[in-house]
Amino acid sequence: MYFTYERPEFDAGDPKEIRRVIEEAYVNGKEAAKNGKAADYIPELAKADPEDFGICVKSLDGETIAFGEVEKRFSIQSISKVINLAAALKYLGFRETFSHVHMEPSGDAFNSILKLDTVSDLPFNPMINAGAIQVMSMLSNFMDFEDLMEFARAFCMDEEITLNEAVYRSEAETGDRNRAIVYLLKSKGVLQGDPDKTLDLYFKMCSLNVNAKTLANMGLLLSNKGQNPFTGKYIIHPGYIRTIRSLMFTCGMYDESGEYGVLVGVPSKSGVGGGIAASVSGRLGIGTYGPALNRKGNSVGGIAALQHMSHLLQLNVFG
Ligand code: GLU
Repeated sequence: MYFTYERPEFDAGDPKEIRRVIEEAYVNGKEAAKNGKAADYIPELAKADPEDFGICVKSLDGETIAFGEVEKRFSIQSISKVINLAAALKYLGFRETFSHVHMEPSGDAFNSILKLDTVSDLPFNPMINAGAIQVMSMLSNFMDFEDLMEFARAFCMDEEITLNEAVYRSEAETGDRNRAIVYLLKSKGVLQGDPDKTLDLYFKMCSLNVNAKTLANMGLLLSNKGQNPFTGKYIIHPGYIRTIRSLMFTCGMYDESGEYGVLVGVPSKSGVGGGIAASVSGRLGIGTYGPALNRKGNSVGGIAALQHMSHLLQLNVFG
C-alpha cells in the first residue's frame, strides 16, 4: 500500500518509461499473488494455477504492452456483469433498466442475500449477483445465449470468446446461492423473466472464456465511449458509458470498491476467475489475470499491479 503522495520523477511522455512502469507493475503483481488463493466455491475454478499472472495494457492509438500470462483463457465470471448491464442499457434504455435494479453500492459480499431480503426488494446494483441476475431476467425475454455471446464478442472486441463448458457445468451444479437469489426475487414479484432460464443465462455469461487481452479490449472500448477504435463502429451509445463506468467505480470491486477507489481510482470490474478489466478514460484499457484472490474475491496480483500503474502513470480519475 502507498502511504505517500510523493511520486518519483517520471516523464509521462516517454514510451520507454511507461513500459518500464508496466513491467514493474507486472513484477509487483506476480510477487503479491503469492499472498492469495484461487476460488474454490466453484470447484472448476480451484484448478487454476495461483502463480499465473499477466497484464495487458492497450492504448487508443493501437499500442499494446503485455507481460506474463496474457494468452491463457479463463472464465470471465463477474466481469460479465458489465456486459449484461451494457446490453440492458443498449436494448432497454436507462429508465427501464433502473426501474428494476438500483445503483447503490451494497457494502456486502457479491453473493449476499441479506439486504435483498431485509432492506430492499430490488437489488442494490447490477455489479452484485442479485443485480446481475435481475438484469439477466430482463434480457432473457428477448435474448438467448448466442445473442448475448455475440454482443460480448463485439463489446470485448474478441471474436474468440467461447463458452467454457466445464466451468458452466460446475457453476450450474453448485450455484445454490444464486438459485436462492433468483427465487427470492421471484417470491418478491420483482423478477422480470423465467427463473431457470435467467439463471442458466447468468451462469453461461459467467463462464465465457476470455484472457487478459480480452479484458484490456473491454476496458479500451469503455475508454473510447463505446466505439471500437479499430473499426469506428459504436457498440453501445456513448451516453451509456458514463453510467457503466460510474457503477464499475462505485461497485465493481465487490465490497473492496471503496478502498480500491482510493488506492487505484480507475473504473474496474473483477471476477473470481482472477480477471480485472479497467478503463482509463480516453487513454487506456487494462486487463490483468491472476487467479490468486484475496478474501473479498479480488485478484491480489491484479490489484497490486493496478495500484502501481495508477500511482506512477497518474491514472486516478481524481488526479
Ligand atoms: N459465477 C460467480 C457467482 O455467481 C460469479 C462471481 C464473481 O465473479 O464474483 O458466484
